[in-house]
Parts: sequence; structure tokens; C-alpha cells
Amino acid sequence: MSEQDTIFSKIIRREIPADIIYEDETTLAFKDINPQAPIHILVIPKKPIPNLANATSEDHILMGNLLLTAKQVAQEQGLQNGYRVVINNGIDAGQTVFHLHLHILGGRPMQWPPG
Ligand code: AMP
Repeated sequence: MSEQDTIFSKIIRREIPADIIYEDETTLAFKDINPQAPIHILVIPKKPIPNLANATSEDHILMGNLLLTAKQVAQEQGLQNGYRVVINNGIDAGQTVFHLHLHILGGRPMQWPPG
């Protein structure tokens, strides 16, 4: 297990189960195990970037793909009334898994500001 190995690397390698709803060469989307909304899906790059702060200009196509995948997944989940896309970056943001991920949250009205 490398330093960058996380539970999400294990999901990518199918070493632990996940409810995967989308996959392509660079990107994976699966249901969050502890959903905070009726629909809560995580979109991750297969490349083990720890968080947004560690993304570089080399990752710009990948970063675009992640956002467009989030849009596509939200559409496919029927979230026409809206949804929230969240990236928790670092300890103060509450990041717990250090493999970059976008949260897609929807299916209920969201509060603002977040806690
Ligand atoms: P964050 O706090 O932004 O790092 O979010 C990490 C998210 O990963 C949390 O919402 C967890 O519920 C979710 N999570 C952790 N382990 C798993 C897992 N094995 N399968 C699916 N989601 C997970």
C-alpha cells in the first residue's frame, strides 16, 4: 500500500465493494456510504490526487472531466431542480478521505451557508 493509497483506491481496484454508477478511463462515480441527502454521489479521478490543493496544471483536462461527469451524473439521477457540488479541501474543510472527490448532493433543499 503506497502513501497515496486510500479507501477510494481500493474501490477503483475493486478490492472493496461500492455502488458504482459511472466509470470511464479517468473517472469513477459511486454512492456515498453515509449519504447526507437522498442522493449523495462521489465523483473521483482514478489518479490518486490527495485533494484540490494538490492538483496541478497537468491535471486541467482531468479536472474538467470531473465537473462534466458531475453534471452528467446529476442529470441521470433526475436532479432537475438543482443539486450541490462540494469539494472538501483539507482538515478545516472536514476532508476525511485524501483522494480528491466531488460530492454531488441532491433530492432535498440545501441550506446556505454550510456548517
Ligand atoms: P470528505 O469528508 O469530503 O473527505 O468525504 C469523504 C466521503 O467518503 C464521506 O462522505 C464518506 O461517507 C465517504 N466514504 C468513506 N468511505 C466510503 C466507502 N467505502 N464507500 C463510499 N463512500 C465512502
